[in-house]
Amino acid sequence: MQLIAATGNQHKLAELRQILPEYEILSAKEAGFFGDVEETGSTFRENALIKARAVCKATGKPSLADDSGLCVDALNGAPGVYSARYSGGGDAQNRALLLKNLQGEKNRRAHFICCIALVFPDGEEYVAEGRTEGQILTEERGTGGFGYDSLFLSDDLGKSFAEAGEEEKNAVSHRSRAIKKLKELL
Ligand code: IMP
Repeated sequence: MQLIAATGNQHKLAELRQILPEYEILSAKEAGFFGDVEETGSTFRENALIKARAVCKATGKPSLADDSGLCVDALNGAPGVYSARYSGGGDAQNRALLLKNLQGEKNRRAHFICCIALVFPDGEEYVAEGRTEGQILTEERGTGGFGYDSLFLSDDLGKSFAEAGEEEKNAVSHRSRAIKKLKELL
């Protein structure tokens, strides 16, 4: 069965294909959908559903979408669904703003969340959530990964996500946990 993934991100596509080998996973572009869907929801779940429904409607095929972000306890869950847009700049500015907002803060607990939605043309919908726990470092560690990886000290790995190899991170990541849960639901 074909599933359309509402992403052009090659890392996400590779991870989906690795965990769901029994499905043929095409990117939205490969399925002929070139639109940009606005993330207007206030939760990861809503945003994932908004994207999956839009791609399903446009392609007429079962469609997958994910939404993810970093939630920091001392910031009442921020940056949350605004993780990508936190500073108004890029990843480096987002990390700088996070460090600034946590200056002097002792409670550095945080988690990444990923919600994956799968929507079928007949209206059937599944949503799965994955989490991974850790804490925010006081300075960047490691050079791999993207986003907040160099500031996230993983409980599972005992090192930052930017110090971990791709396979190591994928074994404990919020995204892989969400995909595995979705697989169980199917
Ligand atoms: P999106 O779900 O691809 O829109 O990602 C939202 C934002 O959350 C990204 O731009 C990153 O800032 C952050 N984020 C999500 N997952 C990760 C991760 O695995 N590592 C680091 N940052 C992440």
